Amino acid sequence: MQGEPEVVILRLGHRPGRDERMTTHVGLTGRALGADRVILVDTESSKDTIEDITGRFGGPYEVEVVSSHRPVIRDWEGKIVHLTMYGERVQDVEADIRAAHSEDPLLIVVGAEKVPFEVYDAADWNVGVTNQPHSEVAGLAVFLDRLFEGRELDREWVGAKKRVIPQKTGKRVEPVDE
Ligand code: SAM
Repeated sequence: MQGEPEVVILRLGHRPGRDERMTTHVGLTGRALGADRVILVDTESSKDTIEDITGRFGGPYEVEVVSSHRPVIRDWEGKIVHLTMYGERVQDVEADIRAAHSEDPLLIVVGAEKVPFEVYDAADWNVGVTNQPHSEVAGLAVFLDRLFEGRELDREWVGAKKRVIPQKTGKRVEPVDE
C-alpha cells in the first residue's frame, strides 16, 4: 500500500486454457486487498481483465506478464512468502512477516498446479492458511488481511472512474469527479 514497502504477488503458471479465471481472481484479490503489483506467468487475457478493472475502479496496481517465475524469484530484493497448505501456520509466523515487511518489500508466491521444490527452498516462509487444501484466492485473501491487519479495507483508490456507494440493499455506482 502507499507509503509502505511494496507487496507483490507472483502467480505461478497454469496449463494453457485452465485456471485462467483463478489467475484473474488472484490478481483482482491482490488489488482489492492491498497489494501493489501482480506478476503473472504467460497469460495476457488475465492481464487485460485486471487492467480493465483497475482502469475503472482505480489503483495504483500494476500487472506484469513474464515467461518464467524463476528470474523473478532469483532477482527479488526483499523477503519471499510462499503460500502452501504444507507450510507453517499463518498465525505462528504473521508477526515475523509483518516486522520484516515494515523494512523490506514482500513477494507472495501462489501456486496453480504442482509447485516445484525450488519455490519452497527459495521462500523465507512457507505459510499455510490452515493446513487444509483449498484455493489460492482464499489463501491470498486471508494472508493479506493478516499482513495488513485490516488496514487494506480502508485503502484509498487513485484514478478511479467509478465508485461503489455502499447500500443496505440494491446497487449504486457513481462516476468519480476528477
Ligand atoms: N497440489 C498443489 C501443490 O502441490 O502445491 C497445490 C494446488 S492448490 C489448488 C493451488 C495453490 O493454492 C497452492 O499452490 C497454494 O499457493 C494455494 N493454497 C491451497 N491451499 C492452501 C493453504 N491451505 N494455505 C495456503 N495456500 C494454499
